[in-house]
Amino acid sequence: MTPTASSAPRTVQPITATALGAARIGPQRELKKAVEGYWSGTLDRPSLENVAAGLRRDERARMAQAGFDSVPTNTFSYYDQMLDTAAMLGALPPRVAVVDDPLDRYFAAARGAEGIRPLEMTKWFDTNYHYLVPEIADDTAFSLHPEAVLSDLAEAVAEGVPARPVVIGPITFLALSKAVPGSASPLDRLDDLTPLYQQLLTLLRAGGADWVQFDEPILVTDLSLAQLEKVTEVYGELCATEDRPALCVATYFGDAGPALHALGATEIDAVAVDLVAGGLESLAASTAFHDRVVLAGVVDGRNVWRTDLDRALAALGTVIGFAGQVAVSTSCSTLHVPYSLESETDLDPTVRQWLAFAQEKFAEVGILAAALRDGRAAVEGEFELRREALVSRRSDPRVKDASVRGRVDAVRSGGASRASAHERANRQKERLGLAALPTTTIGSFPQTARIRNARAAHRSGALSDVDYVGAMQEEIRRVIELQERLGLDVLVHGEPERNDMVQYFAELLEGFVTTASGWVQSYGSRCVRPPILYGDVRRPAPMTVEWASYAQSLTSKPLKGMLTGPVTILAWSFVRDDLPVADVSDQVALAIRQETIDLQGAGISIIQVDEPDLREMLPLRENDRQAYLEWSVNSFRLATSGVSDATQIHTHLCYSEFGTVIDSIARLDADVTSIEAARSHMEILADLDAAGFGNQVGPGVYDIHSPRVPSVEEIVSLLREAVAAMPADRLWVNPDCGLKTRSEEEVEAALAAMVEAAKMIREELG
Ligand code: GLN
Ligand code: ZN
Repeated sequence: MTPTASSAPRTVQPITATALGAARIGPQRELKKAVEGYWSGTLDRPSLENVAAGLRRDERARMAQAGFDSVPTNTFSYYDQMLDTAAMLGALPPRVAVVDDPLDRYFAAARGAEGIRPLEMTKWFDTNYHYLVPEIADDTAFSLHPEAVLSDLAEAVAEGVPARPVVIGPITFLALSKAVPGSASPLDRLDDLTPLYQQLLTLLRAGGADWVQFDEPILVTDLSLAQLEKVTEVYGELCATEDRPALCVATYFGDAGPALHALGATEIDAVAVDLVAGGLESLAASTAFHDRVVLAGVVDGRNVWRTDLDRALAALGTVIGFAGQVAVSTSCSTLHVPYSLESETDLDPTVRQWLAFAQEKFAEVGILAAALRDGRAAVEGEFELRREALVSRRSDPRVKDASVRGRVDAVRSGGASRASAHERANRQKERLGLAALPTTTIGSFPQTARIRNARAAHRSGALSDVDYVGAMQEEIRRVIELQERLGLDVLVHGEPERNDMVQYFAELLEGFVTTASGWVQSYGSRCVRPPILYGDVRRPAPMTVEWASYAQSLTSKPLKGMLTGPVTILAWSFVRDDLPVADVSDQVALAIRQETIDLQGAGISIIQVDEPDLREMLPLRENDRQAYLEWSVNSFRLATSGVSDATQIHTHLCYSEFGTVIDSIARLDADVTSIEAARSHMEILADLDAAGFGNQVGPGVYDIHSPRVPSVEEIVSLLREAVAAMPADRLWVNPDCGLKTRSEEEVEAALAAMVEAAKMIREELG
């Protein structure tokens, strides 16, 4: 099974405390500021490199301070770790080769450049991090460029740090890449990568690494038998590399299941398992690691809750039974959580003590490792302190509010309350009296400098509450006037008061806290501050009614109220881990439902509940998907079924490839669903038809991601395709998505073309 070359004696240094990886954007987004300065020409290259080196050094220092005896390196990235891996393997797209400088070439692949299209971006497994998708062609000539990995290692070695370079493994790298059209699946190229990874191992050994970690999160997804065999084959060959460091394969974001056996059949020296996501089961079922190191991911690397140390220690005790040696670790890289609670001085102090960001998680790893090594008594004080926090969390009245739970139960057991889609459509038609192919938008209008400045001034206290409301009303008035002038049929207020479609609601709902600098990298230099959902969710007061009523008072056309759906709110928050997520979702849904009822009471006849993240939250394993779709659809329906049949419910989804979720889109049963469709030429209409979806649809008629203003003719031609695919009385006319990122001039010109095109099609239809 494994070639004999690998049995050459090699001393394997023990590991007792580590993390699988760490963030790099900087506690105060130092890297974001530096790279953006470099892109705009205000920061020179040496200064950028200085910032980067400082961030790496600080990270090593943090881990050393926590007592780590193995420190992950190469977790720094100027933009994205998949892109780093593509650069390391000589697999950047050929179109960037015209850029001479390696760093500028790298940034060109990430962001595009004059005449160069950037790589596509997509979600990193089920996290909110987005990676760049490498493009692999049959003739991509892989070659090794290990400079960055080696220099990062050299920095650590020079400091005497026990470095463990972390590299995305060959299987995950290829599985997440996409084939250039006409080329075979990237995974077919595995055999071409193996020798490069072997060379890399040798170089890292020579550079002073005792350990190397290859990240293979793809192993927690469903793999075919042939793919599992390939795992054994590839890692068997990597293990056969002479003079290599000890090799750890990291699995995370789920249970590796059968892939653990595939790895166990090789001579890898360690495996990292995600015990937060349920990895214990497969480990317990395997004898393969009885004499090897297991990196036990007991400290959650992607959520913000303090670890229950007693429970974690018990889990570690179990793992000892299946491992030669146990190292305490985070479950995945802490890329997905903020740096440190230190700067969160404004946070509710009670909630604050329930939390652990990266730095606090490193400390937990250190304490658990000490408990394993020296016995719990040695660190009993640390355990006791944290136990108190857990007790406080469990007993806090905000965490369990009987009135919230009672209301959710009552609504859940109330059953379906709205009439059939067909009946509703008739009632709404009577009430709204809209022309065929009504025109509308998805909700947001440009978030101009004027709006951002007003918000900043309000936050800093320079603008009073009253003046801020006045400024926002002024923005709403402009947007209403514009829509009237353009002749749109269903108007929106433009969302000027919303910093973000999730944070806005999180700030108004009880059960959430928001942080001052809890930044997490979303992609490249873009960072977000996810709200933290810690308790039972209550809506203390209406959240959008005043804005919507004000907008409606300015027009006689119907005004569409705008809300964010429960799944999307959860998707962009750190969600409590002490209640089933379906229950948390229903609490949020109840708050949204109360808002829809109040909007209706204020005379709003159309309400849109956005769920752009429904597909994004889909579980990694096929087996878990049905249950997810069940609760998420039920939650949306709970949120939207409190209104009368004459109130029209819209929803919006940001993509056109529904794949396995298409039935669920239909089951949402919104009266009108707007979707992205311009780039895929209305294909989705036929798919929806095939899935038996009979409600109204607003296929996007132009792409809002580009600054290009669409012509009337191109919208007309898309609309012709639409009316050919679906009866005209079920169609709406709208852009692909919200307009907040576009300029006012672009929006005015594009919407004018859209209204004109709709008019022409109406005339054609007679
Ligand atoms: N209503 C939101 C907007 O128009 C929807 C955003 C989204 O789909 N992500 O901005
Ligand atoms: Zn959208």
